[in-house]
This record gives sequence, structure tokens and C-alpha cells, in this order.
Amino acid sequence: MLVVSSPSGAGKTTLTRALLGEEKKVNLSISVTTRPRRPSEIENVHYRFISKRDFEILRDAGELLEWAEVHGNFYGTPREPVERALNEGRDVLFDIDWQGTLQLYDKVRSDVVSVFVLPPTAEELKGRLVRRAEDTPETVNRRLRNALEEIPHWMEYDYVLVNHDLGESLTRLRAVLTAERLKRVRQQDIEKFIEGLLADLRRIAP
Ligand code: 5GP
Repeated sequence: MLVVSSPSGAGKTTLTRALLGEEKKVNLSISVTTRPRRPSEIENVHYRFISKRDFEILRDAGELLEWAEVHGNFYGTPREPVERALNEGRDVLFDIDWQGTLQLYDKVRSDVVSVFVLPPTAEELKGRLVRRAEDTPETVNRRLRNALEEIPHWMEYDYVLVNHDLGESLTRLRAVLTAERLKRVRQQDIEKFIEGLLADLRRIAP
């Protein structure tokens, strides 16, 4: 479970979508949200946009792996697609905030790898929010104020990445994924491979 969090506008979505484009073994967890859809967003690609009532029904039925209120809206991770992907041996990428990350830690800390993405400067963060131009000035301001609350949570993450340059950040994120997959405990077939290797060696060793 690869979790990537950041304040809004740090470039996380661009970064994670770029990773997904090249990593065929990674599924993106599509969250449900009560936030209105932005014009550029597609239902079931970016989010499943649902009513507050439907959100509460999912949450109360235990169908959300984690959930949180962010910027005045509700967001949550549907449990079933994540469990299915993990059971198929796939990795799952989560674009969720620190509150959701802590809830995943509580469930399966050893299965979670978390990355916190920071903007290079405060001006750049504001610039990206304004350039996105899909949110009202009021929403932009609220997201900037929220960044002040969110950034101190960098301490709760395994990795921290300052997003100066998309290409460089992508290389680093890929490096995290590669190294974490190489961890002995995550290499599911390695024991069988080593047994075979040793058996072959015993046969040919003088
Ligand atoms: P946005 O409205 O800009 O798409 O997302 C706002 C924030 O909500 C982002 O920090 C994003 O990572 C977070 N978020 C999106 N989906 C989820 C979710 O399912 N759970 C949690 N905890 N946070 C989410």
C-alpha cells in the first residue's frame, strides 16, 4: 500500500498519475467524496462523487477502509477494491490525507509505505492552486490555510519529497517503490527461488 499525501497544490496528483502510467502492477484506489466534481474530473476516474447520505451509509456499513473530513467535505477509501487488488498480488496507490494515512497505519502498518510531498515554496503552492483555476478564490484561500495544518504531519511519513521538478520527483518516487518492493519480507516467491537455487548448487557443487 503506497500512500502519497501532500497539501493541495503540491503536485501530488500529477506525480501519482505519472507513476501509474508506467507501473502496470499498481492500482489506484478511487476514493468516494462528497465534494462537488471539478469540470476536468471524471466520475470513477478521479473519484466516485456521492451524496453525504450515501457516504454515511457506506461508512456506517464498514465499507470504508478509512475516511476523513478534508476542507469541509468527506472523503473515504472503499475497502473492497483495495482488498481484491492486494489479494491478487498487486500494489495499491492511495492519494489520501494524513488522517487517512494514520488510519491505515492502525490497520496494517507493515504493509504501508508512505510518502509526503511538499511544494518547493509557498508562492509556488499558491501559484499552482490559482493556475488550476477550477476552484473559487475562497476555496483556494481555504486550501492555503489548510496547508498550514497539513504540512506539520510530514513527521508521520516514511519518506519526504520536495517537488522541485516533476521528472526528478517521479524518479525518486519510483526509487521508493523499487526499494520497498525489494525488501526481503515483501518478496513473496524468494524463498522458493532460493530453495531451488540451493538444490541446484548442491547437485553441481563438487
Ligand atoms: P481534493 O479535493 O483536492 O481532490 O482532495 C483534498 C484532499 O483530500 C487531498 O489531500 C487528498 O489527498 C485527500 N483525499 C482524497 N481522497 C481521500 C480519501 O479517500 N481519504 C482521505 N483520508 N483523504 C482523501
